Amino acid sequence: MNPIGEITQRPAMLLFDVDDTVTTDGRVESVSIDALERLQRAGIRTVAVTGRPLGWAETIAWTWPVDLAIGENGAGWMWREGRRFVTRWFEDEDSRRAQRRALDALQLEVARDVPSLPHAGDQALRRCDIAWDVGETWRAPEADVARASALIHAAGMRAPCSSVHLHAVPGGWDKASGALRALADRFAMSSADARVSCAFVGDSGNDAEAFGFFETSVGVANVRENAARLATMPRFVTREARGRGFAELASHLISLGGAR
Ligand SMILES: [Mg+2]
Repeated sequence: MNPIGEITQRPAMLLFDVDDTVTTDGRVESVSIDALERLQRAGIRTVAVTGRPLGWAETIAWTWPVDLAIGENGAGWMWREGRRFVTRWFEDEDSRRAQRRALDALQLEVARDVPSLPHAGDQALRRCDIAWDVGETWRAPEADVARASALIHAAGMRAPCSSVHLHAVPGGWDKASGALRALADRFAMSSADARVSCAFVGDSGNDAEAFGFFETSVGVANVRENAARLATMPRFVTREARGRGFAELASHLISLGGAR
């Protein structure tokens, strides 16, 4: 990974992960909100791309200085247009219904086989996936994570893991494919354009696809703690960790001047 000082072109947008990228110990500090405001003022659009529930993405889209919020690792996205609020989904309604039935069956199976693994505290706000707490309120034993991951894979689903949650994903979305659909929806932006004109910043396993796709992929310094769960590392890395690393990146991008 190279220092972010080697990024020489200002992106049109900064797509950012939330947990441990703009939050520190689970809180959004003023340094991160200030960075988002500075980016928007400088004409760089801000797009949240989180594994958190669509119920959280809705709140982020309503209340944070963002142009778009993508939730559940790409399952859906929303934005504000004045008083109008727009919500879109990766999968159509019939697919979402069938996926819900498969998730319900898997949920019972994991509860039976790995009873020590609790649901994520935000499960009630999830609409398209299931999440288990592997690092948010405790450190789950690796054997439990491996066992639950195997059950998820056996059900024909993917099992991305962030620094806090293990997810069961029953559809074709991930942070890269979901973000691309969302950028097309919201900004009529093509994939080819998004690849070169957007930057992405994250820290953990569920960011791997986005690290692989976007040319300007950045990790906040704590990405090094998650190297074992990352199939693809970002191209650039900040000096500081979490929210301070995010602010450091924002300052550098703004200093580049002149949108692409
Ligand atoms: Mg994260």
